[in-house]
Amino acid sequence: MLSQLFTVTPRPVSLPSEVARENTSRSTGGNPVRAANIISFDIEEHHRIEAAAGVSCSDELKAEYSARMESATRRLLDQLAGAGVTGTFFVVGEIARTHPQLVRDIHSAGHEVAAHSWDHRRVHQFTPESFREDLRTSKDALEQIIGEAVCGFRAPTFSITRETGWAVDVLAECGFEYDSSIFPVRHDRYGIPDAPRGPFLARGREREMLELPPLTYRLAGLNLPVAGGGYFRLFPLAMMRAGLRQMARSEPPQVGMLYFHPWEFDPDQPRLPLKRLARWRTYVGIHRTAERLSRILSGFTFRRAIDVVRDLRTSGLELPHFRVG
Ligand SMILES: [Zn+2]
Repeated sequence: MLSQLFTVTPRPVSLPSEVARENTSRSTGGNPVRAANIISFDIEEHHRIEAAAGVSCSDELKAEYSARMESATRRLLDQLAGAGVTGTFFVVGEIARTHPQLVRDIHSAGHEVAAHSWDHRRVHQFTPESFREDLRTSKDALEQIIGEAVCGFRAPTFSITRETGWAVDVLAECGFEYDSSIFPVRHDRYGIPDAPRGPFLARGREREMLELPPLTYRLAGLNLPVAGGGYFRLFPLAMMRAGLRQMARSEPPQVGMLYFHPWEFDPDQPRLPLKRLARWRTYVGIHRTAERLSRILSGFTFRRAIDVVRDLRTSGLELPHFRVG
């Protein structure tokens, strides 16, 4: 399998002391090590969202969401190109089969293509063996399309938690260089609230994986999730900005990881038949997302996750170790 050609042996991770003293301002320019915000997109069709689990969705509607996923992703690619920003796209493996040209175009625009499982099932639904198979299949499908190693992973619905800490070992075995699935927050569906807020080495049963957690804002002893998703649509944009600035002022290593989905930029899509609270959580603020994203893109500097990971590896700061498995 192609992925085996690209297997990377994890090495000790470190950071330069220079990293991101001020990593958020466009005016800092030039030094790539100082810009440690990452913009990421989870590329999946709208009916795959966790809120729609168990909701019946016709084949016709699924086909419409599939087409709309492609057009919304292409609009995002245009918006990023206009802003001169490259980021990381965590792509559901099946999309490599159904929309190979889209995956090629994401990659040829200079973005990183990373994995987001084969068909968007949460890690809780797997055994270590079936998760390994899912990872290998999705990694290989993406690599066949882009002709390059896929190094990063994000679990659907941030589903690496205390119960699924074994997934860290499986990710390391499959040759991934980093993961971005552990949200250091308290939430009804995901999160490890006491996990570090910046990059850390997640320790499974036997192996470790470099973890890039989504951005949180520390307030009154709590980690508020301000990295994207519903928080991006619901909270004032000032929260996300404050999170990025607070991260830039914190102890190194400082990395502000944001995440978005193509369906969040498609206000005219047909609505899923969700219950009232889920419907509100899913569609709140969807009309203002494109404009909000452009304000974020013009106000901060962003890089691809893999570039930040490689800088972390070649520089001097020890990352914290944190046991999850
Ligand atoms: Zn997802």
